[in-house]
Amino acid sequence: MSVCDYSKMNGKEVAAELARLKSEYEAFKAQGLKLDMSRGKPAPDQLDLAADLLKSGEGYDFIDSAGIDSRNYGEPTGVPELRAIFADMLGVDIKNVIAGGNSSLNLMYDTISRAYTHGLPHSEKPWGKYDKIKFICPSPGYDRHFAVTEHFGFELIEVEMNDDGPDMDAVERLAASDESVKGIWCIPVFSNPTGCVYSDETIARLAKMKCAAKDFTIMWDNAYGVHTLYGDPPKTANILELCERAGCPERVIMFASTSKITYAGAGVSCVAGSEGTLEAAKKSMSIMTIGYDKVNQLMHARYLKDYNGVKAVMRRHAELLKPKFELVESELKERLGGSGAARWTTPEGGYFVSLYTIDASAKRVVELCAGAGVKLTGAGAAYPYKKDPADSHIRIAPTYPSLGELKKACELLCLCVKLAYLERKTGATVD
Ligand code: PLP
Repeated sequence: MSVCDYSKMNGKEVAAELARLKSEYEAFKAQGLKLDMSRGKPAPDQLDLAADLLKSGEGYDFIDSAGIDSRNYGEPTGVPELRAIFADMLGVDIKNVIAGGNSSLNLMYDTISRAYTHGLPHSEKPWGKYDKIKFICPSPGYDRHFAVTEHFGFELIEVEMNDDGPDMDAVERLAASDESVKGIWCIPVFSNPTGCVYSDETIARLAKMKCAAKDFTIMWDNAYGVHTLYGDPPKTANILELCERAGCPERVIMFASTSKITYAGAGVSCVAGSEGTLEAAKKSMSIMTIGYDKVNQLMHARYLKDYNGVKAVMRRHAELLKPKFELVESELKERLGGSGAARWTTPEGGYFVSLYTIDASAKRVVELCAGAGVKLTGAGAAYPYKKDPADSHIRIAPTYPSLGELKKACELLCLCVKLAYLERKTGATVD
């Protein structure tokens, strides 16, 4: 199938195309589809990969490498063998890692909450004592990051996300000029939702840039650090080392989890940073909990074994995910390529594809898809306050649906992109 350039169609051709697309849309509606592509969840077959994780069975010993019974209280920084795996994944020393519970988002929330109530080790006072706090949100980005900082009343500042990370000229300008700008959200590898990987130059600039706020904090969420579809995970510059070298070791706080390595709802997470950062985190964690779930931590460490074991597991995920990402790419290319109605990213890992419609159309596309039974992430969700100023971004989450469902969903999505384009150009509407 070849797609004609919609911008070159004359009035008669547009009317004919619109009529054709409308009848295709009605046919989709009649199918009574009920598909959900709104969140980036692992599919059931991905969860099944980790079946061996739960084989503790008879005779299983719960004693970790430090000789601690994981079933009991104690060892608040977590099971050492799991911390060692996270340390290797993040490229830091084991002493710089605390293993947590099932959710890294929880650790991020706790970090912001602690900054707000008590301040971070490099803070002059708790963030809650300032009249105004601002946070840089590279966009499109992860809606739940933005929600955390919005929840604490911070002003969210949108900065454009480029192919090699956030627009660093804008980030440097904001950080240097305004003391109330306290930090930035970063997903350095296979970013949610564009799939971009930060360049070493971007990482170096983040580590050494001038910040008006002494306690400027980079929330470094390496959620997709090992989630490559092809070959080994990308090697990126070591931001903790760079911050140490730049004399601001507390600037970066790193996070990761196994949510998309083992179980999204029952994995293990970690927080990592300078010794000062971890001392402060430990102190506050010790008030909050006597310790996270060490049994799950130990089971994870034994299942994953080491960093090579993690990479081996991720290769099996890649086998399941590659066909899905490649299907999305081929469907978009076949149905929208050359139409001028959209552009999209082609990530080499992570959980999402970003699709950009023409301006003022993304909401309409999501609405049209919902009208025919395919639920997508709300348009604008990847921007601060859920407002995409151009109304052009749509996050595609290909992991959960089966290949058959995904193909159907992509067909409908492309149809709706074209319909919305023609609606916009002609002023017609499809009900
Ligand atoms: N960070 C990013 C960038 C994510 O996309 C997600 C989930 O989609 C999370 C964190 C959630 O991680 P966790 O399950 O460890 O809380």
